[in-house]
Amino acid sequence: MLPSPVDLATQAPARLRDSHGRAITDVRISVTDRCNYKCVYCRTGNEGAQYTELPIADYLRMVRVLVSLGIEKVRLTGGEPLLRAGLVDFVTELAQLRTAFHPDGTPVVPSDEGHPGGSKLDLALTTNGHLLADLAAPLARAGLNRVTVSMDAVDPDIFARITRVPRSYERVLAGVRAAQAAGLGPVKVNCVLLRGFNDAQIVPFAEFSRREGVIVRFIEFMPLEEDRSWSPETVVPMDEILARLNAWRPNCSTPAGLIELPQHAASETARRYTFADGVGEIGIIAPVSRPFCGHCSRIRITSDGALRTCLFSQSDHDLYAQMRRGATDAELAAWICNVVQHKEARHHIGEPGFQKPSRNMVHIGG
Ligand code: SAM
Repeated sequence: MLPSPVDLATQAPARLRDSHGRAITDVRISVTDRCNYKCVYCRTGNEGAQYTELPIADYLRMVRVLVSLGIEKVRLTGGEPLLRAGLVDFVTELAQLRTAFHPDGTPVVPSDEGHPGGSKLDLALTTNGHLLADLAAPLARAGLNRVTVSMDAVDPDIFARITRVPRSYERVLAGVRAAQAAGLGPVKVNCVLLRGFNDAQIVPFAEFSRREGVIVRFIEFMPLEEDRSWSPETVVPMDEILARLNAWRPNCSTPAGLIELPQHAASETARRYTFADGVGEIGIIAPVSRPFCGHCSRIRITSDGALRTCLFSQSDHDLYAQMRRGATDAELAAWICNVVQHKEARHHIGEPGFQKPSRNMVHIGG
């Protein structure tokens, strides 16, 4: 049972940390539940948004409060975030915010001259890329730092079979190139591998990384689909991806074999690799075979304003309800701190008794 905001408002919010000692520095916000793709492993194919979306100003207020608690990185997602009206203006507003804590954990004290102190937030977007060709430059100008584009094939026919949208590959490729040209690169391209479906695309994706100058990241399929298609056999595990790439020789002057790259941060989800000539970058995100929950620094906000402490949470916490009933920023901060205390230690994929989470990936945003 969570204490009421009024009880908690008297406690001064400190930097967001859960009961397992993990600092929470990243938030992912779904700005709409709508999506223009119906990827076969994600959605049933039925039309219609399931959850409402909030005014952008309300998401902005949530982010402001979270930043005051130590959030440094904001990732916009969906549904499909590029469908959301007002997204560019939202990025412009987010780009004005500054972090509230120094890297050593001490609070930033704004200077007397009114300088806001702190650093700019790290602003990222996860998109299917269908509308990115036109939006990449405006988003970059607004202050977006990075883009991740979801692509599950580099073969146009396989791509269209997965998204269930004709000629989608050409649109997304144009979006990736526009993002690179707009300075949002190196673009990360995320590919969810499903056995017997797109696992033959592993080497073509490696060629794509080298050719387009993008970071390709393979992601193990998780039980977060609307349908009931997940089974351990459908997952293409990290070791198998590595074995296939290690056996591949990029060209006659480059020997086979991946070279591991150092991690950027402990909370980084991907193991990173390049090839012997240093061209191309491959990441592998292995939540199923190599869970990384111990370093999780993330929370999520759904399009209807619920706070989720884990992708696999069995319930979410209605942050927007607190706003509707008139909580002050201090009360919201105290409420969030308390919810985050209850963040799950880890997920239980593949264990006996695993229970599907209360929402699917398309309604959380990844
Ligand atoms: N529409 C945006 C996009 O396509 O990137 C954002 C939402 S989408 C749900 C976010 C990411 O979740 C995509 O990269 C998608 O491939 C991934 N995803 C969906 N279902 C998944 C699952 N069951 N396991 C792993 N990743 C999944």
